[in-house]
Amino acid sequence: MYYGFDVGGTKIEFGAFDTELNRLETLRVPTPTTDYQELLDTIANMVRTADAKFGCEGKVGIGLPGMEDADTGAVLTVNIGAAKGKTLRADLEAILGRTVKVENDANCFALSEAWDEDLQHYPSVAGLIMGTGFGGGLIINGKVFSGRNNVAGEIGHMRLPLDAWQHLGENAPEFDCGCDKKGCLDNYLSGRGFELLYKHYHGEALKAKTVIENYYAGEETAKQFVDFYLELVAICFGNVFTALDPHAVVLGGGLSNFDEIYAQVPERVAKYLLSVAKPPKILKAKHGDSGGVRGAAFLNIE
Ligand SMILES: [Zn+2]
Repeated sequence: MYYGFDVGGTKIEFGAFDTELNRLETLRVPTPTTDYQELLDTIANMVRTADAKFGCEGKVGIGLPGMEDADTGAVLTVNIGAAKGKTLRADLEAILGRTVKVENDANCFALSEAWDEDLQHYPSVAGLIMGTGFGGGLIINGKVFSGRNNVAGEIGHMRLPLDAWQHLGENAPEFDCGCDKKGCLDNYLSGRGFELLYKHYHGEALKAKTVIENYYAGEETAKQFVDFYLELVAICFGNVFTALDPHAVVLGGGLSNFDEIYAQVPERVAKYLLSVAKPPKILKAKHGDSGGVRGAAFLNIE
């Protein structure tokens, strides 16, 4: 059995999967917010309960909004106070007497999609999340590629390329990022970025959902903005595709439900790639909110 934990700021979701990747169990509990021992006990008790139920020693994977320091194993996160700076993986391994894997939740999303029936045969899959933030993960041969510092796939903190700045024009906004830099893609391509850009250029604070409704209603400002935004997405995706050259790209997060992305970005992106490169397939995520748990569980697939 594969056990996955999606540890978030407010809740922990647990899922148990058999070796055919069928989900047999789902549980949700509140995340202990301050007490680290309580967090360890909560996870360990859920593992032991599942072991007893399924008569096995399940393999444990944990996805969280953050990452491990590659040298010390300390968890770097702002969202889970109880785990901040703690060696969660090593401590759980000591309690449970088995190997535990810990990964960034965007990488878990990408892994979940890469193990979808339709994508399992692709040698590489990039998962890009266009939600509150913009982030991603790269899966190579069914495994997360984490890099030296566990930051591989943190494309939200790549900065806008030159042609993006030119596209943004003389009045280009320099949005601050949570990482203390300016110009990170996170603040331009995310759903939040979509809204910030609309407000910057059109002066009105509208929800992305409203702008998209206006677009489908044929409203001129919304049409102009969507055209502008999709070209920006194509420019930035072009750089990502040139660096990673993934066989397939899966989009998740709220803005990934905007179908014009799939209709227009593949054609728009081609001119930003090397002439020998064809755009990868760009697909909508299939596993939605369960991606975090699935991906965490699938960290242990050999
Ligand atoms: Zn940043």
